[in-house]
Amino acid sequence: MAGGLRSDALDDLEGLRITSLDDDDEEQVEEIAIYEDEDEDEEANDSVVLGFVKKPKNPRSLLRHLFPSKAGGVPAWLDPVNLPSGRSCLCDICGEPLQFVLQVYAPVDKECAFHRTLFVFMCTSMDCLRQDQHEQWKRQSEKPSRSVKVFRCQLPRHNAFYSSEPPKKDDKPSGAGVTLCDWCGMWKGIKHCSSCRKVIYCSEKHRVRHCNLGHEYDCKRLRISSLSSDSSLSDSETVSMELQKVACKTLWPEYKIIQEEESEYAMEMTEDNVWAGSLVSRNRTDNTMTSLLEAFEGDDDRKSWASFEERIGMAPEQVLRYCSSTGAKPLWPMSSGRPSKADIPKCSYCSGPLRFEFQVLPQLLYYFHVRNDVNSLDWATIVVYTCEASCEASVAYKEEFVWVQLS
Ligand SMILES: [Zn+2]
Ligand SMILES: [Zn+2]
Ligand SMILES: [Zn+2]
Ligand SMILES: [Zn+2]
Repeated sequence: MAGGLRSDALDDLEGLRITSLDDDDEEQVEEIAIYEDEDEDEEANDSVVLGFVKKPKNPRSLLRHLFPSKAGGVPAWLDPVNLPSGRSCLCDICGEPLQFVLQVYAPVDKECAFHRTLFVFMCTSMDCLRQDQHEQWKRQSEKPSRSVKVFRCQLPRHNAFYSSEPPKKDDKPSGAGVTLCDWCGMWKGIKHCSSCRKVIYCSEKHRVRHCNLGHEYDCKRLRISSLSSDSSLSDSETVSMELQKVACKTLWPEYKIIQEEESEYAMEMTEDNVWAGSLVSRNRTDNTMTSLLEAFEGDDDRKSWASFEERIGMAPEQVLRYCSSTGAKPLWPMSSGRPSKADIPKCSYCSGPLRFEFQVLPQLLYYFHVRNDVNSLDWATIVVYTCEASCEASVAYKEEFVWVQLS
């Protein structure tokens, strides 16, 4: 099994670090599709781990001490204390706090990254994502304004938050994290409601939104209860330590990400059943394809699309493609609008090279119940590049680089 994407934390952690990662790189997958790269004309036969979403049987299985890979809902912050702060939590374009898309637990063979999770956030505005398209071409010196951000967090085996031994089924997250925003449940709470002083927000925007959408009533009640006694609060605090209660109703639905080797699908596939055994996401996928086809500019895009379609068609419900080997390349829906090597910046912490690690597919939008009309959020792929060395830095959450292709 390739290194990354340990989604089923319990199963994986039972074998935590016992198996050697050494022979993974040699693993060859049956050659499935060839796509060309302008730079190297290399065949893409890296072993790919696919991610699929599944409703969790028990939402507690997605808590942070079980090191989940998950999509939607709120993040299970690996370091629950030193969260991203300030402008990094915001869309650089409209200033709204970003929404959690997914996280991938992907430890690497390095003492300081015994635990390692990548977190993807984005602004829910399609206008911002269109603007982001122009910004991603800017060289780092120009400080691009992004509406999609990725953070890398890693911890050594011996750390302040988790036992060095694999967690047991009924463990609870040990130690409290920082208090999170009562509206979004994602970002650090920094601003109390000035009248009840009981609820806390990540930003003025979320304070105002909660105020407009129902906090006023609770606020009075909380003021009264705090005058008589505050015993009720300690109860709710213990609950919120485990499962964060979130006031806003616009988070994306929460899923566990499960993993499968792409090579297993390659075996099963024949030309006729590309779409067989499907498919909740058939509609979504069809529409995505139609709009992609309409967007095609030339033969290169047509060819690129054909191989994209063929490869994705082996497992059309995949929402994520993860590749642990360093030379891996993303599967581009279109050949135009791809970054060249020069468009991928150096790591902003160690100045070392970044490498492609995973990509998110538009099928996820279907599972997020995002409507499929002109102004709804949509993308062809979101490609995540991370520091090849998984370097250490003084911040707990290191911002990595992301490239988006729109359909
Ligand atoms: Zn925005
Ligand atoms: Zn918030
Ligand atoms: Zn209040
Ligand atoms: Zn680095």
